[in-house]
Amino acid sequence: MTPIDLRSDTVTKPTPAMREAMAQAPVGDDVYGEDPTVNALQEKAAALLGKSFALFVPSGTMANQLSVRVLTKPGDEVILDSRSHIVRYEQGAAAALSGVQLFTIPTERGLLAPEQVQAAIRPKDPHTLPTGLICLENTHNAGGGSIYSLTAIERIHTLARSQGIPMHLDGARLFNAVVATGISAAAYAQYFDTVSFCLSKGLGAPAGSLIVTNHEELSLRLRRYRRMYGGAMRQAGILAAAGLYALDHHIVRLKEDHDNAIRLARALRSLPAVKVDLGRTETNIVLFDVPQQSRPASEILGALREKGVLINAVGPTTYRAVTHLDVSADDIDRAAEVFSAVLAT
Ligand SMILES: *Cc1c(COP(=O)(O)O)cnc(C)c1O
Repeated sequence: MTPIDLRSDTVTKPTPAMREAMAQAPVGDDVYGEDPTVNALQEKAAALLGKSFALFVPSGTMANQLSVRVLTKPGDEVILDSRSHIVRYEQGAAAALSGVQLFTIPTERGLLAPEQVQAAIRPKDPHTLPTGLICLENTHNAGGGSIYSLTAIERIHTLARSQGIPMHLDGARLFNAVVATGISAAAYAQYFDTVSFCLSKGLGAPAGSLIVTNHEELSLRLRRYRRMYGGAMRQAGILAAAGLYALDHHIVRLKEDHDNAIRLARALRSLPAVKVDLGRTETNIVLFDVPQQSRPASEILGALREKGVLINAVGPTTYRAVTHLDVSADDIDRAAEVFSAVLAT
């Protein structure tokens, strides 16, 4: 039997209908701006997020890094949560490619409080370096798919604006927040100079991310640096078609992933060995703990894998399971039985 893969929502495979859309896509050379499918995707993304410009890029990492690049100068400081994707999973790119220093703030669930941001903004003083950018992540991956309140974002934005500091949103899973809260993507995006989001996570496309902005000058610089970073592609419409298909067909269904995450969290909560917070299972990521585990995490992962369930460990006794397009409610029930068997011993 094929394993139930809950390691990440990046493991989804394109559906037959998505592949069909890819096969049929009209294409052109996107470096010349002549790929009609890329152009259609960019227009759709900009409209969805209430912005004027959008740029298609190969990965979420590149989307974040291009945003950091165009919004900062070398030697600037960037404020962000200490477990942000930009801090943890992008190979030090902000330092290596933009020459910025990161001011990382520890938080419980990845969500910066306005007071923390306020305290982190450097005074304008000849001894200190300038705060050049504030980055938020919504939903927050390492925080367990946690969602920012619009009020918190608005308050951080008010602080940022009073000091002339731009804001970037790593919205890799922004549409999970949209579906969970009913708040539109544009409502979230209004507070940010740049917003990135992934097509390759829960939306189920094989690759691709977008960066949106309202500023033409930023959009031109994003395009220039995309080329510099090696992200300008040619007949990328093949990939963009998957993204268009995902935006048309895979946003609303994210609710199924959230329902499945709660279903899994409930099943895990019924196991005496497991600690899981249902209230913190807000989207498609389930974080849980096995505090008194009798063997190392690697062995538990191995035992689960042997029984056909894949997850990741994110700490010595902490685990992460992610629901997505290729996991059904039945799969969750089967996985729950495996968890029960493995974590009872
Ligand atoms: C996945 C992810 C990204 C981008 O990752 P890529 O693998 O480069 O597409 C960025 N931010 C967050 C929060 C993510 O989860």
